[in-house]
Amino acid sequence: MKKKLMAMLLSMALLGSLAGCGVSTTAPNGADDKGSSASDSKQTKSDGKTIGILMPTKSSERWIKDGDDMVKGLKDLGYATNLQYAEDVVETQVSQAENLITKGVSALVIANIDGESLTDVCQKAKDAGIPVIAYDRLIKNTPNVDYYISFDNTLVGVQVGQYIEKSLDLKNASKSFNIELFAGSPDDNNAHMLYDGAMSVLKPYIDSKKLTVVSGQTTFDEVCTLRWDGALAQARMENLLTANYASGKKVDAVFSSYDGLSRGIVEALRSVGYGSKDLPWPVITGQDAETATVKSIVAGEQTQTIFKDTRLLSAQAVKTVDAVLNGKKAEVNDEKTYNNGVKVVPSYLCTPVSVDKTNYKTVLVDSGYIKESDLSK
Ligand code: BGC
Repeated sequence: MKKKLMAMLLSMALLGSLAGCGVSTTAPNGADDKGSSASDSKQTKSDGKTIGILMPTKSSERWIKDGDDMVKGLKDLGYATNLQYAEDVVETQVSQAENLITKGVSALVIANIDGESLTDVCQKAKDAGIPVIAYDRLIKNTPNVDYYISFDNTLVGVQVGQYIEKSLDLKNASKSFNIELFAGSPDDNNAHMLYDGAMSVLKPYIDSKKLTVVSGQTTFDEVCTLRWDGALAQARMENLLTANYASGKKVDAVFSSYDGLSRGIVEALRSVGYGSKDLPWPVITGQDAETATVKSIVAGEQTQTIFKDTRLLSAQAVKTVDAVLNGKKAEVNDEKTYNNGVKVVPSYLCTPVSVDKTNYKTVLVDSGYIKESDLSK
């Protein structure tokens, strides 16, 4: 009895400490106000089930959208949710997951911080009969991940590479262009796939010297950015400019893997005079179509981004959870690409879209992803 009380107090204390890490819980639609559940009218059995959703950080707009959309979608089907953010601290995410398992959630949806940190957690989930869905980022080194919902991460990289190829007209170019490379976090499988996809397009041009990486930094290990941290990217770009471009060499393109990095890169370039008549912005790529970045694209600073519609992704995750909890096989469209080191995880991959000044209105504004008014704030 005493033990039980202690355990209760401990978990209450833990919950309290997690509250600062962005925890939000919801009851199913209607259950918190009128006492009737939306699931009454649906075919699914969601009564009393809570879905644990773990997102990496609130410091990036996309994960906030992902979390909010998933909560809404699950609520519409009658599920309760427990959504938590870990501000990119691996240990926080691990203890959040353990806590949700102890609380007996019915399923876990996890966008991990470090793809290799959840082996024990997934084992605990399996032992407790809780299905695990890897959201956007692959969970590695475990047989206990049921499904993977993401975008075609190699295609993201290919699209970025092709954008640079087209913008500099590399196929027909007779001169060489200077480029620098920025990959994502080494503990995120997506960062590697994106880099490989982009390099499948860019490496032949680097080999034939149509592209010159002036810093000489080309391997993933040399160009990666831990935790996709924009401040690190800015500092690295500043160093690259000082060390390699001080003699008047000009940057023609920056392959950047994420809008947060690109914004840091823009600031580093701005600080040495880029964005002026004499020193125009280079081609700068990105990923996620964040509002601040779309503004930057409209202003002619960043050139391109990759739009990964989080509405599609979250809706697919919701469908997957619902299928699994109703004993059905979830929809997948790729059963060969995502080997997590232990098994090939059945995946559903959405299609990314390249966005620049020419199509942002149709793709982002007309589809309701970003409000035109938010771009002029
Ligand atoms: C996601 C990207 C995101 C990046 C940084 C990756 O795993 O796929 O959409 O830009 O993480 O948050």
